[in-house]
Amino acid sequence: MIRARCARFAGPLAVVVALGLAPGAIRAQADRLADAYEKSVRDVNEAHLRKPGDTTEDALAQRGARERQRALDALLRLEASEAVDAALLRCGEAALDLALGDDFARIRTQLVTHGATQREQLGTALVRPRFVLRGLGGLDDDYLQRFADVFDAILTGYDEVFGFDEWSKVPGKKLRVRVHLVEQVTAPPHFAPEFPWHSEIDFPVIDPNELTSPTADGKFLFYGLCHELGHVIAMWGDRDREEDHHAWAHYTGCAIVDHLAATHGDAEWMKPSRDGRWRSPRIERERLADSTPGTGDRDAVLKLLLDLHDAVGPRAIGTALNWQDAKDRRLRINRVRYDSFGELREGFERTLRDRAGLARVRALLP
Ligand SMILES: [Zn+2]
Repeated sequence: MIRARCARFAGPLAVVVALGLAPGAIRAQADRLADAYEKSVRDVNEAHLRKPGDTTEDALAQRGARERQRALDALLRLEASEAVDAALLRCGEAALDLALGDDFARIRTQLVTHGATQREQLGTALVRPRFVLRGLGGLDDDYLQRFADVFDAILTGYDEVFGFDEWSKVPGKKLRVRVHLVEQVTAPPHFAPEFPWHSEIDFPVIDPNELTSPTADGKFLFYGLCHELGHVIAMWGDRDREEDHHAWAHYTGCAIVDHLAATHGDAEWMKPSRDGRWRSPRIERERLADSTPGTGDRDAVLKLLLDLHDAVGPRAIGTALNWQDAKDRRLRINRVRYDSFGELREGFERTLRDRAGLARVRALLP
């Protein structure tokens, strides 16, 4: 006989529990509880999307907490079955959409206790103040801790170099990184713009122990993570036209790798990465020594960005983009911010006090 584990549950279920629930009724009950949990997360996120204000995701997590707790507690009291484990998986996925690390841990523990296959689909997760990491394909909690140390350091590197104010395409929400272990990296890491409530990076890895970079087959994972964050901060052009010819994320990626190698070269988390030998602004400056800055192709844009970097400094570039962010009049697709060089120039015009630097900006930017 399948029945709920705890008869303390109040309401109609208590009656059925006493009689013993038929599998169909268990399924309906589990689905109803997962529906309630998911709906609560969705309602909070949708309301935030309409009016983000200054609300942080940690504050959002308090909203609807009691109704989610009731649903989750009841679900956790149900005995293991395919329907219950499927409902637990749904709640685990939803918990991540609101950075509910404690709920996720309870759900995961239950799936492990049940010996459910859904525990692999759910994977592991780690919530920190600025981001939510999800580990799939067999990555354990220790791996996520190490990855989180690297990711935190990269974000701090961006703070120190550019000082961007807002990361997520939806203000207040934490960034997401979906790290998955694969046999071979066939698709590179990418910024996945399609998620409605946050910005997410998809990040394949091949070593379950260390974030060694470059990998034996020449994949620059550490640089790749820095590069993807460049996309998160700014896409260029529009849906049909990549105005920067994919140079911006390469520029910010190289700048951050270089900065972290110079300032944190001895840090424990830095040891597996040697990307700075191959990915740095110095290498690109040398390669492009005879090139002309412009917007016609990738090397011209890269040269333009490096010249801006040298003329006014990366902090001024960050300040110009922050000004555009605060005004928030730019194109958005899937809520992702799209910049243009014209708007970047406007940002400089409004924020740069250094007259010589501004003259150089005007000469470089259209
Ligand atoms: Zn890219």
